[in-house]
Amino acid sequence: MNEAEAHVVREALALFLTHRQVAINARELNLRGLLPSASKCTNSTRGALWTKDGLAYLLKSPIHVGNRVYGIELFDGERKRLIDIVTYQQAQNLLASRAQVLRNTGTRTEYLLQGLLCSYGCGASFTPGSTTKASNGKRYRFYSCSMRDTYGRAHCTTGNLLPSRTIEECVVERIAEVAADCQLAQRV
Ligand SMILES: [Zn+2]
Repeated sequence: MNEAEAHVVREALALFLTHRQVAINARELNLRGLLPSASKCTNSTRGALWTKDGLAYLLKSPIHVGNRVYGIELFDGERKRLIDIVTYQQAQNLLASRAQVLRNTGTRTEYLLQGLLCSYGCGASFTPGSTTKASNGKRYRFYSCSMRDTYGRAHCTTGNLLPSRTIEECVVERIAEVAADCQLAQRV
C-alpha cells in the first residue's frame, strides 16, 4: 500500500466513524473520487467505484493497520503502520455493533410494516401478531390495534384483525407505483 492508497483508507475509516453506515460511506468516497486502488479494480472499463461489500471488506481488513493475521491474533507485520490503530479499532467496534443490530432486527422482518401502521379507528399503533389454526397447523400473521387489544373493542371502531399479507402486498404495490412514477418524472 502506497501513501495515496493509505490516504483513501484513512478517509474511509474517518468517514465511517462520522456517517456510521457503510453504504453512505461508499457513496461519499465515490463522490470525492477516493476510489479503490487499481489492484482491487475489476476489468470493468468504467473504473471501479466503492460498493457496500467492497468497502466493508476494506474496513475490516487488518492489513491496513500494518498487522498480519495469524489465526485470530494480530501481530505487528513488516508493513509500515499507515493507519491509526485507535481509529481502526473504533471502526471495528462499530461494524460489529451494526452487525448485531441487523441480527436482532432480522428476526422480525417478516412483519414488513411493524411500527408503520396506525389504527384508522382510534389512531393507536398497530402491532403484529400471529395465530396458529389448530385444524391444519397453519400460521396466520396479522396486525391489530393496540388500543383495541388492551382496552377492548369499545375503544376503537377498527374491525377485527388485519391480515398481514393482504396489507403488505397492497403497500408494496403502491410503493412500486410511486417509484415508477418518480422514474418517469425524471425521464420527462
Ligand atoms: Zn384502534
